[in-house]
Amino acid sequence: MPKCGACGKFLSKADSIRCNCSAAFHKACVGIPETSSVKGAWVCPGCKIKKPREDNTSTPVKGLTDTYQSTPNSSNNSADNTTEELKVDLVLEIR
Ligand SMILES: [Zn+2]
Ligand SMILES: [Zn+2]
Repeated sequence: MPKCGACGKFLSKADSIRCNCSAAFHKACVGIPETSSVKGAWVCPGCKIKKPREDNTSTPVKGLTDTYQSTPNSSNNSADNTTEELKVDLVLEIR
């Protein structure tokens, strides 16, 4: 029986989610509502940190990754973080 990579407790099939690196987590532990089913490939926080550029999903991950934050409204995803930060600064100054 797999254990959650976030909290270390055992997983039940119903509320677990698995990355293709074979790491498994509780949906709750990675910020996914238990009622929502994730279609397609889900990437665990560890894999997101390793290769953020290959990840186009907009799945929010709470707590585990601060380095990668999805921007739902941006059409050009994850190409350059610096531009994104500059945009944020501009928005703040405009306000
Ligand atoms: Zn867990
Ligand atoms: Zn993974």
